Amino acid sequence: MAVDSALSSPLGPPACEKDAKALRFIEEMTRNAEAVQEKVLAEILSRNADVEYLKRYKLGGATDRETFKSKLPIIKYEDLQPEIQRIANGDRSAILSAHPISEFLTSSGTSAGERKLMPTIQEELDRRQLLYSLLMPVMNLYVPGLDKGKALYFLFVKSETRTPGGLLARPVLTSYYKSEHFKTRPYDPYNVYTSPNEAILCADSFQSMYAQMLCGLLEREQVLRLGAVFASGLLRAIRFLQLHWQALASDIESGTVNQKITDPSIKDCLGKTLKPNPELAEFIRMECSKENWERIITRIWPNTKYLDVIVTGAMAQYIPTLDYYSGGKLPMACTMYASSECYFGLNLNPICRPSEVSYTIMPNMAYFEFLPQEPADSFGLTSSDPQPVDLVDVEVGKEYELVITTYAGLYRYRVGDILRVTGFHNSAPQFHFVRRKNVLLSIESDKTDEAELQNAIDNASRLLREFNTSVGEYTSYANTKTIPGHYVIYWELLIKDSANSPTNEVLNQCCLAMEECLNSVYRQGRVADNSIGPLEIRVVRNGTFEELMDYAISRGASINQYKVPRCVNFTPIVELLDSRTVSAHFSPALPHWTPERRR
Ligand code: AMP
Repeated sequence: MAVDSALSSPLGPPACEKDAKALRFIEEMTRNAEAVQEKVLAEILSRNADVEYLKRYKLGGATDRETFKSKLPIIKYEDLQPEIQRIANGDRSAILSAHPISEFLTSSGTSAGERKLMPTIQEELDRRQLLYSLLMPVMNLYVPGLDKGKALYFLFVKSETRTPGGLLARPVLTSYYKSEHFKTRPYDPYNVYTSPNEAILCADSFQSMYAQMLCGLLEREQVLRLGAVFASGLLRAIRFLQLHWQALASDIESGTVNQKITDPSIKDCLGKTLKPNPELAEFIRMECSKENWERIITRIWPNTKYLDVIVTGAMAQYIPTLDYYSGGKLPMACTMYASSECYFGLNLNPICRPSEVSYTIMPNMAYFEFLPQEPADSFGLTSSDPQPVDLVDVEVGKEYELVITTYAGLYRYRVGDILRVTGFHNSAPQFHFVRRKNVLLSIESDKTDEAELQNAIDNASRLLREFNTSVGEYTSYANTKTIPGHYVIYWELLIKDSANSPTNEVLNQCCLAMEECLNSVYRQGRVADNSIGPLEIRVVRNGTFEELMDYAISRGASINQYKVPRCVNFTPIVELLDSRTVSAHFSPALPHWTPERRR
């Protein structure tokens, strides 16, 4: 029930007083976006006036936007590598930030094949927590009664390492789940999870998933929303249920925990909640043993009101599969837009259709600039050197690359995301996530670019030399019809001596040779997280790529400028390639991966 109208918000009637406060905060920030941005930049620059990086650019203590923009360059991660390396090696002087760097957050974006290391400071946790605290008050405006049940969220921690200088390096969500902010969060009836902390915090992904699924099944009637950070994560959970429902049902029947669960804190915690429940076990067996898994989510969790998963950007490829498992009727809520560098903003209309999702950037999170994306002419050139604009100055309909200046010490840093302005909430713009720059293939958080793919092809091609064979043409496709999804690489081979063409075994090894060359996020997905399946090479018959060109030209491509696309997702093209496939090969083993960085 909504509270007293005195607490009402322009966003809608808040569900409780706490929500009213959060909604007021959103209103205040978005109404005063310009002033808040000015204040944020002044705060960042004044507290960091003496750091080495700002002194280098002779900012002289200035905190205004004009001086800042005229003196500091817009940079990419690679430009900061020397500073980041020094911090990683133990230099504790104020290089980027006057506040001590508390840890590194390992981004899923990579540089030279390894995850980017993002320095962060302790207080950033509060800022992230603040953004999280706004999500449920907004959701409660659209979905009433979420305090009457629970959320089944599949949340995981990943492995962490230490840099040579002793700083922790781990993903931002691992850092958050392990923080006191999360572990000792106060009880909030609108935010009760079925997964116990012990299960979320277990680093063994099998045991963590098993325990979270078990708890989700035990409380299936109470579950009002189901989620994971990304759509791929929720599908992985469904796949897990497909593979392990017998064991889960038998634990529920007997009230004892499977022997594969060895983590003492999970065992202890499950031991307290698990009681024999043959009726529930029978129900799970009945539903899961059916051939058809359509609508399995709503069959098992009948009170689910929505799915809480990001299905924007690269994750849009999972919408049809999620629709299949949920019966196509459950909304998919994309609640926030964030990164290791900074949490950016939230979706003020979370129950909208995935194609309509817009994120409102919260002006208090960092200082934001936007580099206009100029449309390229027919030679692929852009006309001028576009100048970045401020948050409140972006124009509806235009696309921009996001540039941030953060409290943790990134100054005019290009995030690599392209966003399109869809409108404004008060004076804060709202953005559609268009794409990540330079990403060709992505299954989960992996991001493979064209250069990495080419490099992997080169590495695999070496195995073909003794057969006097080379890769004539190639393209790729992220196959998300399998769970987990996997990369498919189409090869047209130039075989000079057909009596000595590469064997099946060699082509399988080529798959592995490609995987060995892909970035560490990809290899971690393969080895530790099981979120990416074995890479597949499909050899197509000779002349296929010429047919591909003919097809593109028939659809209006210029013959002079035609280039083989290195990634395809247009169904007729994928179908054409599949119909010309003469053999398919899969990686026979896991590539190498350890949490330690190679470089
Ligand atoms: P990471 O640095 O590994 O935390 O990844 C952050 C990146 O994930 C962002 O820069 C985006 O490219 C992508 N991302 C995060 N949130 C969303 C979202 N809601 N929709 C689409 N892409 C997102």
